[in-house]
Amino acid sequence: MLLKLYQAGQPVLRNKAKTVKLNQLKSKQTQEVIDFMIATLRDAPGVGLAAPQVGESLRIIILEDKAKYHEPVPKEVLADQKRKAFTLKVLVNPELRIIGSDENLFFEGCLSADGYMAVVKRADKVHVKALDRTGQPVEFTAAGWQARIIQHEIDHLNGTLYVDKMISKSFTNLKNFNLKWRKAKQSQIAKSFK
Ligand code: ZN
Repeated sequence: MLLKLYQAGQPVLRNKAKTVKLNQLKSKQTQEVIDFMIATLRDAPGVGLAAPQVGESLRIIILEDKAKYHEPVPKEVLADQKRKAFTLKVLVNPELRIIGSDENLFFEGCLSADGYMAVVKRADKVHVKALDRTGQPVEFTAAGWQARIIQHEIDHLNGTLYVDKMISKSFTNLKNFNLKWRKAKQSQIAKSFK
């Protein structure tokens, strides 16, 4: 089933999402929410989705970046973004720790602010501790684009949208992003918006 994508302005996107208890995670209801989130993310398509975006105030995020999503993106941009395909991850009650002080400026968008993009400064490297959908602990280090997705999605669990963190003068609609910035290098973005 595809779920409705809640758009900016709806209060659930501004609340702190609730920690998921183990028995709640294992319930049919929560497992279904996860399945439906996956279907909704792939349908959009997008690379990350947080439960509040489908109206569920739960600390659950999912992320997936498929090689086929990279086809329209110039190779130099993918390399610059350190963007690599990875398989689906379901992260429950994720805890984020930033590693080092390297930061990147890139445009990002959000399924809850459809049709717009803006530059957001994000840490290059993060460590994540979470539960998987079966309740098993997982932890890993992420860098580059995957680290950006994780930071964006965990922000959703805390009621934060990228517009709270964006460099506001970079804000653009999708059409103008494609015209002006789709092929831009990090150095060009940084020069324009630092
Ligand atoms: Zn988002």
